[in-house]
Amino acid sequence: MVKRNKIKRIGVFTSGGDAPGMNAAIRAVVRTAITYGAEVYGILRGYDGMIYDDFIELKSQNVSNILQRGGTILKSARSMEFKTIEGRKKAFENIQKHGIEALVAIGGDGTFTGAQKFSQEFNIPIIGVPGTIDNDLFGSDSTIGYDTAMNTVVEAVDRLKDTADSHNRLFFVEVMGRDAGFIALNTGIATGAEGILIPEIETTVNDLKITLKTNLKKGKTSGIIIVAEGDQSGGAYEMARKVKEIDNSYNTRVTVLGHVQRGGAPTLADRILASKLGFYAVEALFLGKDNLMVGIQNNKIAYVPLENAIKHNSEIDHDMLRLARILSI
Ligand code: ATP
Repeated sequence: MVKRNKIKRIGVFTSGGDAPGMNAAIRAVVRTAITYGAEVYGILRGYDGMIYDDFIELKSQNVSNILQRGGTILKSARSMEFKTIEGRKKAFENIQKHGIEALVAIGGDGTFTGAQKFSQEFNIPIIGVPGTIDNDLFGSDSTIGYDTAMNTVVEAVDRLKDTADSHNRLFFVEVMGRDAGFIALNTGIATGAEGILIPEIETTVNDLKITLKTNLKKGKTSGIIIVAEGDQSGGAYEMARKVKEIDNSYNTRVTVLGHVQRGGAPTLADRILASKLGFYAVEALFLGKDNLMVGIQNNKIAYVPLENAIKHNSEIDHDMLRLARILSI
């Protein structure tokens, strides 16, 4: 048996954009901590709740029947005040007031940037759990919510393909991804999209025109172009407009999937990922680890310094883009 540090009370919170599976992670944190003999306090609305003293004790029964629900029972927020030292001081005073000795932060890169500062300034152990649909954190093959968001996109695009085909329409479908094209790339492959536009690679309207012309010659009169919201062309509306400008004969339509990608019941993959990461996050705290993000790499648990998780971007697999082009001819 590994020697465990004694921690009497843990705080857990969700922060930044919500992601399906966050509830499964909260449940795993609460039940693992209770099993190891600690109490758990949930902090509402992320760092804002820490500053405004919004804490609730979470017992095992408080997290029953939430595993399958999207969103986060602890609510989430983007806190401007936490970015100031005064805000973080207030947050720490409340943490101390409630006797919390360690924290589990569920969120994305912004959440971890704040966590890292907080941990260094006030010497409180923090473990990060990657919860973001963007999958843009270094150190975990997947982040909580990513799989669910992609499944939501695939379901929507499948529906759009039916109508695109019936009316010979060219659909530009905008998906989430301000800085990262993972959702666009994978859903593009999974739906057989004719074009995939991601922030990491510039696609000009001329590049797209060549693809569309080749398709037309082969008799493809409808199509799907998946556009990540952060694509360099300026998003789906902008690219559709540019295509129309070049050739007005295209029957274009734009669908922005927006926040539907954040909601819904987490998939099996996200439930398992969230359960594992919540469990290992608490285990890490009890093993005396600190300032790390827990991730899964090649099916194994991995610990990455929070600093690396934020600084190094997860990279797009360029071979996947090549594959997408070949398979959609
Ligand atoms: P997502 O990837 O889903 O957007 P995120 O965790 O990156 O999630 P952000 O809004 O970027 O979401 O960050 C969440 C919160 O973390 C911010 O509202 C803020 O309170 C805190 N935070 C972000 N950057 C900093 C910083 N430089 N210093 C202190 N706190 C920060």
